[in-house]
Amino acid sequence: MINDLYFGNFSPVGDVVVFSMCIVVLILVMTSYVTRNRSFAIFLNIIGFLFLASLFDILFHAAYTHITDGDYTKVYLLRMLFHIVLVSILLLYVVYIVELLHLERERKLPIMILSTVLYVGMIAWEIISGINGKGFRIDENGKATEGIRVFLYGYLIYAAIIVFVMMIHRKRLYSQVMYALYGTMIVSFLILYVQSYYGNSSYTVTAFMFPAIALLYSIHSNPYSIELGAVDSRALKDMIRYLYDRKRDFVFMSLYLPDFDMEGKSFPKEIQTLIRKFASEFFFGAVLFQISNGHVVLVAKKSINPDYENKINKLLNVFAEEYEKFKLDYKIISGESIDEISSRNEYISFIRSIQRRMKMNEVHFATYDDVTLFNNYEFILEELEDIYRRNDLRDPRVVAYCQPVYNLETGRYDTAEALMRLKLPDIGLIAPDQFISVAEENGYIHSLTRIILQKTCDEIKSLIDEGYDVKRISINVSILEMRDINFSNDIKGIITGSGIPEDKIAIEITESMSDSDFIYMKGMIGELKDRGVKFYLDDFGTGYSNMERIMELPFDIIKFDRSMVIASDSDERSEQMVGSLADMFSKLNYSVLYEGVESDLDEKRCIDMSASYLQGYKYSRPIPIVELKSFFSKIAE
Ligand code: C2E
Ligand code: CA
Ligand code: CA
Repeated sequence: MINDLYFGNFSPVGDVVVFSMCIVVLILVMTSYVTRNRSFAIFLNIIGFLFLASLFDILFHAAYTHITDGDYTKVYLLRMLFHIVLVSILLLYVVYIVELLHLERERKLPIMILSTVLYVGMIAWEIISGINGKGFRIDENGKATEGIRVFLYGYLIYAAIIVFVMMIHRKRLYSQVMYALYGTMIVSFLILYVQSYYGNSSYTVTAFMFPAIALLYSIHSNPYSIELGAVDSRALKDMIRYLYDRKRDFVFMSLYLPDFDMEGKSFPKEIQTLIRKFASEFFFGAVLFQISNGHVVLVAKKSINPDYENKINKLLNVFAEEYEKFKLDYKIISGESIDEISSRNEYISFIRSIQRRMKMNEVHFATYDDVTLFNNYEFILEELEDIYRRNDLRDPRVVAYCQPVYNLETGRYDTAEALMRLKLPDIGLIAPDQFISVAEENGYIHSLTRIILQKTCDEIKSLIDEGYDVKRISINVSILEMRDINFSNDIKGIITGSGIPEDKIAIEITESMSDSDFIYMKGMIGELKDRGVKFYLDDFGTGYSNMERIMELPFDIIKFDRSMVIASDSDERSEQMVGSLADMFSKLNYSVLYEGVESDLDEKRCIDMSASYLQGYKYSRPIPIVELKSFFSKIAE
């Protein structure tokens, strides 16, 4: 009697597995980090319905086998519920895919209308056929038969809708996720086909669960950005280790968009689409990693992309076209795997070190020279860290150089600017452009300033003791340091500790356009000025030169940047402009210092343009601070 389609070979084992798997999935998502977005909510609903489906399927079969009085109402009802739940799952899959693809309203609407109509139709059929007997039916002998197989057709139409939507919008879907969904759908079809071939129905619900497992694994299981289809930087490290261990070469491309590289920012939709396109259209099997909010890196194996150079160029061409539309600042770096970086698994720092040296809107191909520079950089960083930790104000690695400044009023060298150098084992003397920004970015700049100040004070002390006429020596201070509330106390402490008058020290600072920096600066300058410390505005003419703000800060000297000295040589008008700026400052009781005076002609022009002080290679290159004595003169007895 019981050997028909529904009950012949039915075993509740498939349903029991789904039933338990749903509980396992719930435990997993509750105990791991999952982004609770809309698609996750839909996913949870799918799991809930799968749970119900397996339950109803078990009950439906159990009811059938236990009916003795020939009243099958309960069986019809349970089967109806079972099918309604299954149809709901199909609809939810469509909703999920639509959500995942971020479809616009007008694209979403026809799909949702079609799926909903289908949904209503299928449910109506389940109910009507239960009454009119055209569908599932149990005859007088208790034998179940299937009439018109609406459920099967409905199922196939839903599957077709999903495949169709995924195909036409495939560019919006990260290819890895797409393959996972197609793969699990194929497995589901196979299971359903095989079970129907053998007249079984035990695995129907199981087949409905596979795509959900794919979603759980590829989308909800970890810090995975659905918008970009990118995995995080830790995953990049894992991948590099994997590839390096297997001696597989790869290529990488890094895209940095500084406008979005901030806490709380993310790429807008159009850019997301573009990045996804770059990630999936050019290379085979490329994986995209999100390093920070505005930084993504693409990695692809060379073996399956033998023409990778072409592909890189094509991608760059497309990027150039898109750039015309968006005009966003960028830095692009591409390169091939380099064993030395792979073995240390340091691509992110490597890329960042190249980025630091690049100008905006450039494309750079990484070479071995970059590795050398990167190694230097890493070495410098370690040394800076060590200097910071030791906190020795006379650390021999921080070297004070000095450039004497000619004072037109006294006709002598009686001031100078202290310029920092690093002297590191193996490398030797290092210029500021190689380490100042590194120190600033890593928070070590203030410890360097303290050392330079100490060494400058030591030298001033020795000059004074030996009877030299030293008006003052200036040191350079970074704006960043002024944000530290201990800044002025640190400076005061070092100066008084070395026993020289405070007015022998001057501090050079550059303008900052930030409002908060301005407020810090104003506070710090005020405190130190009261003690006699002098202040210079450095690099005037290169920054924003907000006159209102400059006037609000009590500077003693305005240092005109070398670019102004050069500009004044170009034509009459420029000379007049620089000249009248300088004239204005001197009338307002500021002293004007020209930097970068290299020739006699430079000197003459600067003197004509209200100069009080002159500094530049014409007088001296930067020299070790102890050599200052050969420029300064002794006070006449
Ligand atoms: P800056 O403060 O504008 O220093 C002047 C730079 O111009 C020095 O470069 C100096 O060697 C160079 N220079 C001097 N005369 C001439 C000339 O006639 N022609 C040309 N073309 N250049 C001339 P240096 O020593 O390489 O320093 C570069 C920058 O590094 C400095 O620019 C300053 O911004 C920074 N720096 C140097 N020492 C320190 C320091 O102790 N602390 C901080 N925070 N920054 C420093
Ligand atoms: Ca300076
Ligand atoms: Ca300067």
